[in-house]
Amino acid sequence: MTTTGHLDVRSTAEDEWRDDALCRNTDPELFFPIGTTGSAIIAIEEAKRLCTSCTVSNACLDFALETNQDSGVWGGHSEEERRAIRRVRAAEAQAARLSS
Ligand code: SF4
Repeated sequence: MTTTGHLDVRSTAEDEWRDDALCRNTDPELFFPIGTTGSAIIAIEEAKRLCTSCTVSNACLDFALETNQDSGVWGGHSEEERRAIRRVRAAEAQAARLSS
């Protein structure tokens, strides 16, 4: 069986979404290209396109955010996009704390 970088990261019973990961049998370099320029841009966009057809993209993205995966495409989001989501969520959490 071919595995991807997504499947090599910590796995628990709560991570059963991986069984339905569309990327299970794809080239890991597509989802974990080296760099963010040139051919890596093409790989990232292709990986994100595949994610749009994946039935477990929400669980995949949640996992990546909860476990601070800092490389690769997870749940249709690049590293930079996940960092942006984390910043927004941190700001929202801080605002909620200050208003309570
Ligand atoms: S959303 Fe993308 S990265 Fe996540 S399991 Fe599906 S195909 Fe793989």
